[in-house]
Amino acid sequence: MKETGRAKQAGKSAEPGPDGAPENTSPLDSSVADPDPDSRELIGDMPPEEFRRYGHQVVDWLADYFEHPEHYAVQPNVRPGALIDALPPSAPDKGEPMEHILDDFEKQILPHVTHWNHPGFMGYFATTGSAPGILAETLIAGLNNIGLLWNTSPALTELEQVTLRWLAEWLKLPASWFGMTLAGASVASLHAVIAAREAAREQDQAAGRQLDIDKLVLYTSEQAHSSIEKTMLVLGLRRDHCRKVPVDTEFRMCPEKLEQAIQAALAAGLRPFCIVGTVGTTSTTSVDPIPALADIAARYSLWLHVDAAYAGSAGILPEKRHFLHGCERADSFLFNPHKWLFTPMELTAFYCRRPEVLRRALSLVPDYLRSRQDPRAVNFMEYALPLGRRFRALKLWFVMRYFGRDGLSANLREHIRLAEEFAQRVDEHPEFERLAPVPFSVVCFRYRPPGLPEDSLNELNRRLVEAINAGGDFFLSSTVLDSRFSLRVAIGNIHTRGTHVDRLWELLTAKAAEIGSPAA
Ligand SMILES: *Cc1c(COP(=O)(O)O)cnc(C)c1O
Repeated sequence: MKETGRAKQAGKSAEPGPDGAPENTSPLDSSVADPDPDSRELIGDMPPEEFRRYGHQVVDWLADYFEHPEHYAVQPNVRPGALIDALPPSAPDKGEPMEHILDDFEKQILPHVTHWNHPGFMGYFATTGSAPGILAETLIAGLNNIGLLWNTSPALTELEQVTLRWLAEWLKLPASWFGMTLAGASVASLHAVIAAREAAREQDQAAGRQLDIDKLVLYTSEQAHSSIEKTMLVLGLRRDHCRKVPVDTEFRMCPEKLEQAIQAALAAGLRPFCIVGTVGTTSTTSVDPIPALADIAARYSLWLHVDAAYAGSAGILPEKRHFLHGCERADSFLFNPHKWLFTPMELTAFYCRRPEVLRRALSLVPDYLRSRQDPRAVNFMEYALPLGRRFRALKLWFVMRYFGRDGLSANLREHIRLAEEFAQRVDEHPEFERLAPVPFSVVCFRYRPPGLPEDSLNELNRRLVEAINAGGDFFLSSTVLDSRFSLRVAIGNIHTRGTHVDRLWELLTAKAAEIGSPAA
């Protein structure tokens, strides 16, 4: 890793202080750190001066990286196993100089990296961190706090409560909800279904019945994320009891079909226990009719969980809040600030209306972790599967404060505007076809030149997405909607601007013409 121009200038401009010594120790002053591992102490950490020097280099490298993303192809052109083959089979016995490690990061690792931070990354959900989040992440690693109990880091525990309350306020969710962060939406949904199962057990117990877990049935839509079905697998519930309720032509769960399925299950002696609605499904970002699901959940005493992993962030915009209508009636709710709120991986905000149910399901306090009880001292380990907890809230706090609601809203609105503009281009072009509504910042569409039979379109569009991705300037992913192969343009990267979307459109139309022409 090269010391960058800026670092060099900083080194040159170090003026002697009043006592003749350099005012600031230059990060490049080779006398402060000897990189020769032979002269290194074996016991103890990297000396602070060396840490300072390489810390500056790493930050400078990152600043250059963000300034010139075009130096990298979005996706590396490498074959599986290539990095494994290139690296030594065993780790070194002797410590190596940091210079070499950083050099090898650039030479060996980077060529195999997919650049999620590249402005042309528009696959899956385009997720990016942000500079304030990255700086906070460094401090989190530096402090390395482990939130087991309140007293193992009061700041970690209380900042988590504060930031999640702030977020709930932005999303107009009930202030009384219990909130905690988890490492991902999949883990958060698992917590929701654990609580739902516990609630069912307690209901049955109160009615003098014993819960038979083989009878438990969960309802979600055909378009729900796979993590919902996975909860059944993980909890030893019957996977075929994850019932996928059909969707309407706009990919939203049909509440009538849901209610029919529940009645059929009850008639068959089964035990419905949970409904999972989605706000912003993974393929098309469709939104289930949450108020109708809440009515049905209330009618049959079922737990209602809402997975808003991607679209929840849009709840901070007053003009998009209506998509969360009804969520305030849910028993649990999640969304991912790491997906579309510029917070580095991993940070899911998980809320629960009845935390005491979660606690009864998950609290297990061994003798070595008993602590003084205080009503204000929350011990998150009693509500969660993992014991150790990172100081995640710190990065959320940095991001929320640096951008403010206005800054975050401006970025989200720009992404939505770019997606709407892109959708309009698709709609106006006679040879492209949009395949789903665009409530947020994802556009599903395909190329459909006139005169080609329907059964050739899937292959044609598969070739189109491959051609775009092979160029290295953009990365798109795909999905299948009603058996139709669909390209997906997901705008959500904090570095993406209108110029990138313009270039993508030019490239798409050019490649489509190339692939679609009879000669090809
Ligand atoms: C992305 C996504 C998930 C999975 O999120 P992780 O944080 O990666 O577990 C779950 N549900 C929906 C709707 C998603 O879009």
